[in-house]
Amino acid sequence: MTVVLEPDDVWAYLVERNLAAGTGTVREVGDGNMNRVFLAIPDDPAVPSVAVKQAPPWIQKLGPSSPMSPERALIEARALRTFAEYAPKQTPDVLDVDEERFAFTMEDLSDLTVLRTALNRGAAIGTTSAEVGELVGRVTFATSVAGAEPRERADLLARSVNPLLAEVTLQYLLGDPFVEAEHNSNHPSLDGAVRNLREDPAVRTELATLRAAFGSSAQALVHGDLHSGSVMVGVRNGEPVVRVIDPEFAMVGPIGLDLGLYLANVVIAAVRSRNTDHLASIEGLWDAFCAAWRDGWPDRVDPLLDDGWLLRHLRNVWHDSLGFAAVEMVRRVAGYSHASDLETLPDPGPASAVVLGLGHRLLVDRGVCGGEGGRPDPRALAHLVS
Ligand code: ADP
Ligand code: MG
Ligand code: MG
Ligand code: MG
Repeated sequence: MTVVLEPDDVWAYLVERNLAAGTGTVREVGDGNMNRVFLAIPDDPAVPSVAVKQAPPWIQKLGPSSPMSPERALIEARALRTFAEYAPKQTPDVLDVDEERFAFTMEDLSDLTVLRTALNRGAAIGTTSAEVGELVGRVTFATSVAGAEPRERADLLARSVNPLLAEVTLQYLLGDPFVEAEHNSNHPSLDGAVRNLREDPAVRTELATLRAAFGSSAQALVHGDLHSGSVMVGVRNGEPVVRVIDPEFAMVGPIGLDLGLYLANVVIAAVRSRNTDHLASIEGLWDAFCAAWRDGWPDRVDPLLDDGWLLRHLRNVWHDSLGFAAVEMVRRVAGYSHASDLETLPDPGPASAVVLGLGHRLLVDRGVCGGEGGRPDPRALAHLVS
C-alpha cells in the first residue's frame, strides 16, 4: 500500500530522508493531471528549495476509481538520470529516488515556465527547439545501436519496459482519435473534416504503420510524452534555460515519437499565435538533433555502421517524426487530450481546422517535407502551415 503524501507530510518526509533540515513551507505546484508535485521551500534562504513528485496508484485527475501503477514515478526518475548522463544541460537534477513511496526529489524549477504557457502568453521560442533537439539527439544516439554496445542495450531494454503507459499512448494518441470513441470531442465546425479523416483509407494505413513502429521499433530511449507541457523555459543569469521534465512514459521506442510530439505542439503554438518564428525553430530542432548524432558518430560502437546508413537512418527518423507529429495534431483537435493553446482561443474553431487539415495532409503525404528517400525539409513543413 503506497503512502500518499499530502502537502502537510512533505516537509517531515524530506527531513526523514535527509533532504531537508530545520523548518520550511510546502505548496502543491502540479497541475493535477497524472501525478502530484510539491515544492518545499526552507525558511533559511541559504538552503535551496526542492520539488517532490509522487505517483499515486491511480490517475490523479480521476482518483482511486482509475488505478494506474505508481511504478511510473520510478521509470521517470530512472529516465531523468539517463538523460542527465547524456544531456545534463537540459535535464533537471534528481536528488533522491524513493522506491517504496514511488516518489522522487528533484531540483526546484519554479523560476521557469512551462513552454506551452509561455507560448500562449506570446513569448518568443528562442533557442528552445534547438535545445530540445540536442537533448533528443544526444540521448537517442547514446542509447541506439550506434552509441551503446549490444549488452548495454539489452540491459536498457530490460530496464525500460513501460507496459501500462505504452497502452495509454496506443489508445489516446494512436487509436481513439481515429475512430468513434467515448472520450473524443471536437469543435462542432469540424465534424465533417473529422469524419473525412476517419474514413480515409490512406489515413488508416499510415496510422497502422505508426502503431506498428510504436509497438516494435526499439531504436533508442525516448521520452515518450515530449509535448510543450513537458518543457520548462526561463532565464538564469541572463542566459536562456531549457529543461525537459516528466519522462514517465519513457521507453525504448521510435525516435520520431519525441521529435514529432514536440514539433506538432510547436506548430499548434504557431497556428495559435500566427508566429512564423515558432515554425522556423523546427529547422533548429532538426539541425541540433542531427548535429548530436554527427557528433557521436566518429565514436560509434559498431564500425560496420557506415555513413550511408547514417544518412538513411536520419531520413527515416524525419519521416517517422512527421507521422507522429500528424497524429499528435489530430489528437489535440479530435481526441481526448485537447490543450490550452487551442482551447483558450476565443473561438478555437478556425485554428483547430488548420491543425486538423495539416495533420490529415501530413499523414497521407509526408513526402512533401522530404525524408522518404529525400532530404529532410523542415522549411517545407513551415510553408505548409503558413
Ligand atoms: P504530470 O506527470 O502530472 O504531468 P509534471 O512532471 O508534468 O507532472 O509536472 C506538473 C507541473 O508541476 C509542471 O507543469 C510544472 O508546473 C510543475 N513542476 C514539475 N516539476 C517541477 C519542478 N522540478 N520544479 C517546479 N515545478 C515543477
Ligand atoms: Mg542538469
Ligand atoms: Mg506526466
Ligand atoms: Mg506533465
